[in-house]
Amino acid sequence: MGDQSQKLIKELEANKREILNLKRELDRSIYRLNETQRITRTGSWSWNVISNEIQWSDMMYELIGYEPDSVVPSYELVLSHVFHEDREVYERELGEAVDKKQDYYLENRMTKTDDSIVKVISRGRCYTNDEDQLVSMAGTVQDINDFSNLNESLNRLEAYSNILSHDIKSPLRTISCFMGLIKLKSADQLEKDSLSYLQLVEDAAKEISEIVDDILSLAFIKSSKLKRESVYLHSLFGSILRDWTAETTQQDLDIILEPMPEIIVADRLKIKRVFQNLINNSINYSDNNRSTRVTISCEVESDFYHFKVADNGIGISEEHAKLIFDPYFRISSKDVMGTGIGLSICHTIVELHEGRIWVEPNIPYGSVFHVEIPIKAEL
Ligand code: ADP
Repeated sequence: MGDQSQKLIKELEANKREILNLKRELDRSIYRLNETQRITRTGSWSWNVISNEIQWSDMMYELIGYEPDSVVPSYELVLSHVFHEDREVYERELGEAVDKKQDYYLENRMTKTDDSIVKVISRGRCYTNDEDQLVSMAGTVQDINDFSNLNESLNRLEAYSNILSHDIKSPLRTISCFMGLIKLKSADQLEKDSLSYLQLVEDAAKEISEIVDDILSLAFIKSSKLKRESVYLHSLFGSILRDWTAETTQQDLDIILEPMPEIIVADRLKIKRVFQNLINNSINYSDNNRSTRVTISCEVESDFYHFKVADNGIGISEEHAKLIFDPYFRISSKDVMGTGIGLSICHTIVELHEGRIWVEPNIPYGSVFHVEIPIKAEL
């Protein structure tokens, strides 16, 4: 056998070992993902539009009362389990999501095989190719019967944050790393389609990683203690706006800081996070038909500071105004990437300060986010 062949065999063996290791790591992460789905009572599904293949996670079967793999997954089967009164809205929302190739979110009830009824949150996302044709969809169905209050779900999140941070993020890093290596070594041998599939995998890994980070910050903030200190409002907003100006390329943007008290007592880093999120959202959810204007104010009312972050963006309907503070809630927006966790982080921080946060429509356009923080003299 020539040197060349021996070298090739060695390389093949090394590749085989690498693939086996990756497979083991992937199996472990699938196991942990299934565990996380079981704990958070979330099933997931995917639909390959081209091959018309539908896949369900084990939890997806269990949520409607089936043993995993005991039935053939299909949209019709899910629909037959959607509670009869919710079916029309369900079909309409999904139909619209597919037609417009956009995300959907809805709360509905499912009738299980034993006729019991569970309340769920159904979410989905559409994936398109370069010609804007729908190529696949993926989504989740989360049983929220047990999640009767936010605290309970947050406690669960806290308990499983280790699973998320270590056992899911590290295989994700491996996937991204090997995807990068494959692209680097073999880009010129791969067809255009394969390259775009690799990109899809890389993007999906990045997205999961961002969701994990947001879930972890939510859990972390909930369990952390408040560190009250003097917060100089001008320097706080100044640093938020400097960060923004450094990042953004947006030209027609007007951020107005109205006169406000010099100092308040609060947890500086946490409060900064609240206003960072609110200002980011005001800019991200702006309306393309007009230049963006964000006005930030703070007034001293009897025993609290009343902050307002007002924008002239796309606005929020009355029906969505309360839901947006729930973790993961997003009003579908194809253009803005996000995880739907930012406002629940704001809500948690404001609650830690024993304050209140809510949203109202701005006149004539946009939204005003109100934040009330009690005035505390002591540090
Ligand atoms: P994300 O921005 O990651 O989706 P958030 O929790 O910050 O998550 O916001 C939840 C949803 O509320 C957003 O998806 C968006 O639909 C809506 N939203 C938040 N802020 C605004 C705003 N200023 N104007 C219009 N819609 C908003």
